[in-house]
Amino acid sequence: MTAKVIDGKAFAAGLREQIKLQTAAMIAQGITPGLAVVLVGEDPASQVYVRSKEKQTRETGMNSFAHRLSAEAPQAELLALIEQLNNDPAVNGILVQLPLPAHMDEAAVINAIRPEKDVDGFHILNVGRLATGQKAMVPCTPLGCLMLLRDLLGDLSGKSAVVIGRSNIVGKPMAQLLLRDSATVTIAHSRTRNLPELCRQADIVVAAVGRPNFVQGDWIKPGAAVVDVGINRTDDGLVGDVDFAAASQIAGAITPVPGGVGPMTIACLLASTLTATARANGLPDPEGLTP
Ligand code: NAD
Repeated sequence: MTAKVIDGKAFAAGLREQIKLQTAAMIAQGITPGLAVVLVGEDPASQVYVRSKEKQTRETGMNSFAHRLSAEAPQAELLALIEQLNNDPAVNGILVQLPLPAHMDEAAVINAIRPEKDVDGFHILNVGRLATGQKAMVPCTPLGCLMLLRDLLGDLSGKSAVVIGRSNIVGKPMAQLLLRDSATVTIAHSRTRNLPELCRQADIVVAAVGRPNFVQGDWIKPGAAVVDVGINRTDDGLVGDVDFAAASQIAGAITPVPGGVGPMTIACLLASTLTATARANGLPDPEGLTP
């Protein structure tokens, strides 16, 4: 069996087109969505991500506000900037690029963002809202994975899902979203025993580990959907957490790396900015952009 390769790049392009139209409709009502992106320091990977976020924000017709702080900036300076953005009505979404320099308290910084503007969905209130089934801002990467899975499988109710990884950014919110769609969810992590056996029973495997080719082909149940979140730079180039060559012989569908989950993340950031703008203006949530 050869798996269907899920084209995240094409899906994300379609999503961006939809966002562009909805943004134009909002602008016609006199509301221009705005996303502020804050980068502290000069981490090369973060610089690439941030530039890409800013470019795609402008391409959809939204306002993009760029803020750069030096790696040595005191935390108080960052908190003051966040406060200014919290109070700026032109800013609907605030994204502080992670990781932050070691002298900063990541949780304190994230929790200083107004939850309604927290387009990354990392604020403790949004985490709680998602976990309790309330209207939340949802982390972009898991939201992108969910959109791909729903598009592929339709109703996820009753499906068994294994999420490998328990980070606050990917694994835990992914599990919450799948649970919200009534999947039966197992969260696996570095202390999990019998991971191959767990995976072999799963209709859905989401890998968010950060180890190249970690998930083996013979861990996959024939016909299962495999979503590979991993981005690993190796001598062979960019590879995922799943052994794609082997797994794609057994899975029903699989996301490639690159070109799978990656492009969905920024598209979902734009989707969440539009959602935040709609909510701030008392409009209904934009169609198809929220979980
Ligand atoms: P993380 O390092 O915070 O978490 C990794 C998780 O993997 C941990 O919870 C850990 O328990 C688990 N793990 C480690 N070893 C394991 C093992 N042997 N067996 C089972 N579980 C194990 O990483 P993260 O931030 O969640 O990111 C995971 C991967 O996803 C990374 O490669 C990252 O680059 C990538 N990522 C991609 C996107 C995207 O847009 N596509 C976004 C975020 C992260």
